[in-house]
Amino acid sequence: MRPEKIQAFTLVELMIVVLILGALAAIAIPRITGGAQTARVNACKSNVDVMNRQIELYYANTGSWPLNLGEVTNDPNYFPDGPPECPFGKKYWMGQFGILAGKYRVIEHLHTVMVSKEVTAIEEDD
Ligand SMILES: [Zn+2]
Repeated sequence: MRPEKIQAFTLVELMIVVLILGALAAIAIPRITGGAQTARVNACKSNVDVMNRQIELYYANTGSWPLNLGEVTNDPNYFPDGPPECPFGKKYWMGQFGILAGKYRVIEHLHTVMVSKEVTAIEEDD
């Protein structure tokens, strides 16, 4: 009686599969993390836009500009869920140039993200 032939992968075949998976991971992982960083940057920009709108609303309601940003962000009438937080942990500041320009604005800050060139490109757009 002949012994049955054992069906198995050779070491070379397994190494080729591991190399292909490694190459795919090397391509995919930076793209995924870069997308997450871009999303966080956009979330921060969205926070700034919302704060600027609420500052305008504050002015419309009270007839005067807030003395500082906390006057608006800590007011539950404007931010019921509490002050917005930068996804990178940075602090928001309201510019005082508003006295001259006639409008108070939250100063946009840059994030030191080293993940991809896409993120820095997005920051430079505005
Ligand atoms: Zn931020």
